[in-house]
Amino acid sequence: MHFLPLIEAKREGKTLSAEQIKAVIEECTVGLIPDYQMAAFLMAIYFRGLDAAETSALTLAMRDSGDVLRFPPEQRPLVDKHSTGGVGDKVSLPLAPLLACLGFRVPTISGRGLGITGGTLDKLDSIPGFKTTLAKERIIEIVQKVGCVICGQTEKMVPADRILYSLRDVTGTVPSIPLIVASILSKKLAEGIDALVLDVKFGVAAFMQTLEKARELARAMVTLGNNCGVNTRALLTNMDTPIGRAAGNWLEVKEAVACLEGRGSRVGDEPSIKSPASDDLRELVLNCAAHLLVQSGKMKSLDGALQQTQEYLDSGAPLKKWEEMVTAQGADLEALHRKLALDHTAPVVMEIKAAQSGFVSRCDARLIGEVVRDLGGGRLTKESVINYDVGMDRLVKPGDRVTSGATLARIHAADADQASAAATRVMAAFGFSNELPVATRLVEEVVIISADQ
Ligand code: URA
Repeated sequence: MHFLPLIEAKREGKTLSAEQIKAVIEECTVGLIPDYQMAAFLMAIYFRGLDAAETSALTLAMRDSGDVLRFPPEQRPLVDKHSTGGVGDKVSLPLAPLLACLGFRVPTISGRGLGITGGTLDKLDSIPGFKTTLAKERIIEIVQKVGCVICGQTEKMVPADRILYSLRDVTGTVPSIPLIVASILSKKLAEGIDALVLDVKFGVAAFMQTLEKARELARAMVTLGNNCGVNTRALLTNMDTPIGRAAGNWLEVKEAVACLEGRGSRVGDEPSIKSPASDDLRELVLNCAAHLLVQSGKMKSLDGALQQTQEYLDSGAPLKKWEEMVTAQGADLEALHRKLALDHTAPVVMEIKAAQSGFVSRCDARLIGEVVRDLGGGRLTKESVINYDVGMDRLVKPGDRVTSGATLARIHAADADQASAAATRVMAAFGFSNELPVATRLVEEVVIISADQ
């Protein structure tokens, strides 16, 4: 194949055929296209875009660049959720076992965090003994037996995405809607699922900061997912404020377990804080599960589905399922329980206090994400080494009423200097008002598009 004419065609805004796109991905996967040509091609796509047929061809070619999971046919539908990434977003952890209890099979293939958005695999790596790297056969075995698994992509799954993503990362071509759609959906389609719910974030800490941009990305992914035979919906959710009250890998695992135990956040127990703020982690978990119940035809109405998901979550069965899943993935359950019983695992914990009384009107997810990353909880580059114990918890959220001297958050740090530096920076994340602020909706919109649209 001569690649130069294809780069030139895309540079001129011409449409490529499915065969041409397939050939590009096949040759790129086996290393036949030099990085400089592939980078030029990606930049041409960044400026010229891809139409729906080209995006579909790219997604399918990427999916087929490696192993696709194939599960034995049976009555439990295969489902998953994907989030475009946020701060404090630990939804996958309680969601997978809840879905397994609701009669689904859940092969969640997750990623690592980069920048301010946390990665599910990094959170799970903080569990003693837990393995996020599993062979394809073991993934299938655990899903069939337990009902759910959360692990990383195997070496052989969607290798084309690994190649393209690392080039995009260093060539300024990540924020391209067709490239994002193909990257995310190729990985989800390789899981062999029947239904997918997408959590597309908008807001200060989101990839797509405006609702309009998030909607555009969501519509593109929902249309393509449906056209590829996966019943796909998207929830457009607010990412101005972290999800839950903890950010940082181990602290988020603790909060996810609290969600499975039916305990929300502990902040409302403090007498100096009154918290009418909703339990957004629980709300998002329940919404994702309820939509999948409707998408898979198990329930007719969303209200009925929400009712059922609440009953299941409160039954305690998903907590047992979580323990089954982590054990199947190598976790030492006793060590996990001992770790969960500790108040903190970082060497230093520092409380930051309110200087005034009033209502919390802002808790800036971007700034909090940056502070957690700089404490060592996230990566500045792919090579950065993560500190699992650091982060923030007991965060106050918009709508909470605090009295002067109340704890606004706790900083968990590797040493006192880092804790002090984080405390100084993080004060700017909080805003206060005398009036109860107007509550923002967590799920702003649901994108549903029928297959023929
Ligand atoms: N997440 C992905 O997996 N790929 C992208 O391109 C962007 C976010």
